[in-house]
Amino acid sequence: MQTTSHSLLSHLSTLTCSGCGNPYDAFEKQTVSPCCHLPLLAGYAPDVMPEKEALYSREGTMWRYLEMLPVLHEENIVSLGEGYTPILQLANLAKKYELRSLQLKDEGQNPTGSFKARGLSMAISKAKEHGVEGCIVPTAGNAGVAMAAYCAKAGMRAVVVMPRHTPKAFREECYWYGAEVVLVDGLINDCAAKAKELNSNGELLDVSTLKEPYRIEGKKTMGYEIAEQGNWKLPDVILYPAGGGTGLIGIWKAFKEMKKIGWLPENAILPRMVAVQAENCRPLVETFYGRQANAQNYVGKPTIANGLAVPRPLGEQLMLQTLQESCGTAISISENEMISGLKELGANEGLFVAPEGAAVWMATRKLVDTGCISPDEKILLLNTGSGQKYMENLSDVFAQE
Ligand SMILES: *Cc1c(COP(=O)(O)O)cnc(C)c1O
Ligand SMILES: [Zn+2]
Repeated sequence: MQTTSHSLLSHLSTLTCSGCGNPYDAFEKQTVSPCCHLPLLAGYAPDVMPEKEALYSREGTMWRYLEMLPVLHEENIVSLGEGYTPILQLANLAKKYELRSLQLKDEGQNPTGSFKARGLSMAISKAKEHGVEGCIVPTAGNAGVAMAAYCAKAGMRAVVVMPRHTPKAFREECYWYGAEVVLVDGLINDCAAKAKELNSNGELLDVSTLKEPYRIEGKKTMGYEIAEQGNWKLPDVILYPAGGGTGLIGIWKAFKEMKKIGWLPENAILPRMVAVQAENCRPLVETFYGRQANAQNYVGKPTIANGLAVPRPLGEQLMLQTLQESCGTAISISENEMISGLKELGANEGLFVAPEGAAVWMATRKLVDTGCISPDEKILLLNTGSGQKYMENLSDVFAQE
């Protein structure tokens, strides 16, 4: 039994079906909503919130927002020091392209080298709180590595299911965390089917993107940090590489929550959210521009930005809602453009980013060219991961140089 002696200040109150708004018990273990089979979103009832200044003396991790996070007991927090990543000024590229304000939040500096650390730290902490003994995840790479690390820390069994073509560095790192790795021919949706089969007796918790309610609660802390680190002044536009969509949806959720609890003024103008995808796998772009009703039958191809190879995201509707509510847009970037972006960020800014992050920079250039973003605006890029583990995807390019 858990004691209440170390109970945290979490104001978690409900889980709500993102399809129809049905409420569910937030203190029971939940997966997707039984009514619509769609993601459940956590709601908070902050009767008394501290002033935002109270944050400043807290530790530099995502756990500093604990009132608005779902973990109820401190002893269940499984942390490797994730979050509170720096926001860097890209002054050299800003000068080169005559942009007034160009910043990049570098999520590559998280434990296990990507922002997936935030989501999996939260999901594994909640799994621990619910007494779970093992977890399974279909992954394009980074989520599997992060889950393996947090499960190791929590003393849980970890099963990671990833496409066979994923760079070896992802598989090998899972091995060192003591996880079981299963390789599948295909993309993440094929891995999801395999994971379901492997877990037919339901003994493992499936922590797939948005199939449990808490990875997004970890990801949303990026939004809280963007506000706090920017001294509560938000950028005009945020560009984000969207695969499953938890980051995009999470950041937007954070902005709305901060208005509700008074950390942002009620009339604050929120940033336009831009979803960046790969040309090889761009289900959201296709739906956004009305070229398909939804992504349910979309077929994608692999991309060097492994995290973007998500052909049929469960959170599609929530991503579209974010783009609509924020007056944002969706755009796709080719493999060659990503390679140019990698080179440019590396050689001008000393950053070796994930191809996903390179895509975001190239999207910025394109949207400035078309006038969709003005050079006077405050632009924030999210680099979601470090380039280190992607080397194998890039070795052909390097060999030809
Ligand atoms: C998973 C991943 C993404 C996509 O993130 P979502 O929040 O699922 O949309 C983007 N970049 C990297 C590096 C990733 O690992
Ligand atoms: Zn429902």
